[in-house]
Parts: sequence; C-alpha cells; structure tokens
Amino acid sequence: MTKKKPIASISLDLDNQWSYMKIHGDEGWDKYPSYFDIFIPHILDVLDELELKITFFIVGKDTETEDNRKYLRMITEKGHEVGNHSYYHESWLQTYSYDKIEKEIIDAEDSIFEATGQRTRGFRGPGFSWSNDLLEVLKKRNYLFDASTLPTWLGPLARYYYFMKSDLPKEEKQARKELFGKFSDGLRPNKPYYHQLKDESKLLEIPVTTIPILRVPFHLSYLIYLSGISPVLMKLYLSVAIFLCKITRTKPSYLLHPLDLIGGDKIKSLAFFPGMNIATEQKVKVFRYTLKKLKYNYKVLPMLAFSNEIASDQRT
Ligand SMILES: [Zn+2]
Repeated sequence: MTKKKPIASISLDLDNQWSYMKIHGDEGWDKYPSYFDIFIPHILDVLDELELKITFFIVGKDTETEDNRKYLRMITEKGHEVGNHSYYHESWLQTYSYDKIEKEIIDAEDSIFEATGQRTRGFRGPGFSWSNDLLEVLKKRNYLFDASTLPTWLGPLARYYYFMKSDLPKEEKQARKELFGKFSDGLRPNKPYYHQLKDESKLLEIPVTTIPILRVPFHLSYLIYLSGISPVLMKLYLSVAIFLCKITRTKPSYLLHPLDLIGGDKIKSLAFFPGMNIATEQKVKVFRYTLKKLKYNYKVLPMLAFSNEIASDQRT
C-alpha cells in the first residue's frame, strides 16, 4: 500500500488591475479598470492543464459590472471555489469598527454569491489585515476559516519597499503604517490553528505558509522574483521550503497572485509594474514547476476541502 500523502491547499487572491494601481498610488484606479477579460481565461486554462482546482478570493467591488460578472461566473462553472476578499480591498481592516467590518463582509459575500452562484465560507483580508472583530463577524456568519495571516518577520521590510516604490502622499502612508504587519508577526503560528472567540467559540485560521523556522515567505510572488535572479536559486529555495514543511509536519497553504502568472506582454496597462517585464510563459513555467513539486509531496486541495480535513483531523 502506498503511504497517504499529507494535504496542502492552494488559493489565488484575485486582485484586479485597479487594486494594483491603488496600492501603487496611480491615477485612474478609482474608475476600477479591470483585466479579468485577459487574466481569468488565461488562469483557467493553466489550471485545467494542471488538473487543479483552487480557491479564488474575490473582491466584492469587482462584481459590479456585467462584464466582470461574466468572467467571475467562469470560475465556478469550471468547478473552482470562491472566497471572500472584502468589498473594497482596503489593507487596513484592523482600523474598522465592528459595524463597518460586518457590512464589508456581508456586502462582499452577497455580491459574490450573485455573481458566481456560490456562498463564500472562507475569508482572506487584503494585505493580510485582520482584527478580532473581523473574526467574530466571520464566526457569526458561519464561516469555516479565516486565512488572513502571514507569519513572517519580513512584513515591515515589504512595507518599506512598497512605500519606496509608490507615489503615495505622507498622510496615506500614515494610514497604512501597519500594512503587511509587524516584526512580531514572525512569531505567529505557521500551521492551521483555532482562534478562541467570545462565548467559547472557535474559528479555524489557515495562515499563508512561510518557510518553517526561517519564517520567510515562499509563495509564488517570491519564487518568480528569485527565478529572475537565478532559476537554480529559485529551485533550491523551494526545495528547502518543502523539506522544512515536511520535517516540521506543516501542511502548506500556498498563495498565488494574478501578476505571478501573467506578464506585461499580455497586460500592457501594467507593463511598467515591478516584475511585469518577466514574460507570461516564464511565469507559467515557474508555476508548473512549483506545482509539480507540491503535488509530488502533497495532495493539493482547494481551501474548503483542506479546512474540512483539518477540522476532521482535530476531532479524531
Ligand atoms: Zn488582495
């Protein structure tokens, strides 16, 4: 009998063209330009080729136009899962009041349901932002998991880099001072665990996995970046990540972003963006390699199936 493989999960934060422009401080983001017509058919083809079902975390605002809805429907028609990625994609949910965060969650959930025919049962905060009120709202609405934490100490460095590259005015930078987290986030759990909430209830947290012990990210954005320096370095980095996950029995939750899978050759409007000089074909090649490695070591599942297996493990 072959030994049963441990499980891993895979998801994509479906950040649209405007949210990249917004975070970068570019004019025109508030007209909500969309690249779904190019990106969604592309990613669905890549996933078909790899026979992979994943979870797409969708932003509520993107369901407002019929054109976007047409592409969002393709996701569930292909049998993929959808998750809630907030309504306005603001990376400072920790500053929201309870009522504001509740409205944000409900509005996104309802509009994603209308667009895709699927109710969201999991949530990921934009820019890894979350709060206790957020968790209480998710529990109240019967969500099965939150996936908003990134246990790395690299957050403040990422923020520094982002501010350096962006054209944001000083006040905006002040509002975003906790963007991407604090150094102490590097001490947060890296494996799925339960948040203890009010009334003795619990909510499953599925952190975006970072490399055990080292606590540096290895999600696809990092591998693409490394492959630009050296493909050998990228492969070594991924091997170390998987090796350390295996020996620490960490079941990886693997994260993708649209610009990890498409280049400036296909999305001309973002060709000036960091990393967009890498061609689509090269990015897809890194993705194929990464998935081959992950699938060799793990049974790779979308997030809901993954969370169900984690929950049933806890019960037995
Ligand atoms: Zn996002």
